[in-house]
Amino acid sequence: MGTLWQSELRRIALLLIGGLLLGALFGNVALGLLIVLGAYLLWHLYNLHNLVRWLRESKKFQPPEASGIWDDVFEHIFRLQQRNRKRKRNLRRMLKRFHKITVALPDATVELKPGSDEIEWWNNAAGRYLGLEYPRDAGQRITNLLRYPAFLEYLQKGDYEQGVEMPSPVDENITLRVRVIPYSGNRRLLLARDMTRMQKLERTRQDFIANVSHELRSPLTVVSGYLETLIESPECGESYAGQLHSMRQQTERMNRIVDDLMLLSRLESEIPQADAEPVAVPELIDSIAEQARRLSGAEGHHIELDVDRALCLKGRETELYSAFSNLVFNAVRYTPAGGHIGIRWRRLDGEPVFAVEDSGVGIAASHLPRLTERFYRVDTGRSRASGGTGLGLAIVKHVLLRHDGHLEIESEPGEGSVFRCHFPAGRIASCKPR
Ligand code: ADP
Repeated sequence: MGTLWQSELRRIALLLIGGLLLGALFGNVALGLLIVLGAYLLWHLYNLHNLVRWLRESKKFQPPEASGIWDDVFEHIFRLQQRNRKRKRNLRRMLKRFHKITVALPDATVELKPGSDEIEWWNNAAGRYLGLEYPRDAGQRITNLLRYPAFLEYLQKGDYEQGVEMPSPVDENITLRVRVIPYSGNRRLLLARDMTRMQKLERTRQDFIANVSHELRSPLTVVSGYLETLIESPECGESYAGQLHSMRQQTERMNRIVDDLMLLSRLESEIPQADAEPVAVPELIDSIAEQARRLSGAEGHHIELDVDRALCLKGRETELYSAFSNLVFNAVRYTPAGGHIGIRWRRLDGEPVFAVEDSGVGIAASHLPRLTERFYRVDTGRSRASGGTGLGLAIVKHVLLRHDGHLEIESEPGEGSVFRCHFPAGRIASCKPR
């Protein structure tokens, strides 16, 4: 750039000298200079004209011929244009690729206009699953096309974390899981995934467990019945006492597993009724504590209650009984004789909380995330020996889910554990006087 300006200044200096010489020739220096400067201005105007014409005729890529500083100006603009064109080409290619990817996605994808429910764009799968048609539905409100009440409520709520399941408006045998993904400020993307296969598999799994448990129940009842008869008969009862006792223990264990499996499949498959009754939790706890004392028997655990007698809960009594009793009986089973067990039912930050605290064997932190899985046991031998089915905490989890609650577990190996069932404040009911 520096040398260019130098040569341009040299060009001006030469022109001025030429102008002076011309002025000397005409005997008028000012005239000589005027002619030379006029020519210089014309040269600039000519190049400027060329520049404007070149920029206007965008299709003509090569810059016009020029000399001096104008050659450099044209060269610079030309290089800038080329760089821009290359960038545009890359962007266009990238956009096309993204477009092809989103069009090919198996999930229905619908883009909503910023800050509104109007449809801006959608992919092929959205046509298949949501019945969107171009151009008919462009600009339509999504709420006019998807009228399923749970979806409308989900969209209105604005809490998009969970998603919602609904039948496809095209084919009600297709179940869709719809989620809204907010992005870049006030923009929203609606994704719908076909869950039909997953749902069928889940239903098959649930049916299988329910059927197997059901089928096992009748032969088990027969075996248990005959066993009781044999135990009571004088000939067999005495000769085979040990074997018969062990057989009775095993059939009882199988009965408990079958009962728990059937309860679990009911909890999974039955839709909870909306009109939950107020449950007298204090009385429920009294009865569970009484059974826990009986279960503890000679082991003499200290079972202490701290119960808010005015606090009841809207829910289903039998389910709450299953969840709470599983936690309390676990505390007895996993706490050495003479240990301490605390059962609390209080409000914590406004929320009703049922907590069972024990001074038992405790659980290492690595096991905590998997504890509510079916048949997950920390110590299989101890679980079986104390009559466990490995399904107790899975039942607790499902009951809490059906009551909009969640389970919190704190534990320290060798120190003890605390299991807390948190329920939403909206489920609090005042207890009826008995
Ligand atoms: P189980 O019938 O084996 O007790 P659960 O589902 O009730 O099955 O519990 C799962 C596992 O969690 C148990 O096997 C046990 O290892 C552990 N566990 C549950 N409650 C306690 C507790 N209060 N203290 C220590 N470990 C516990």
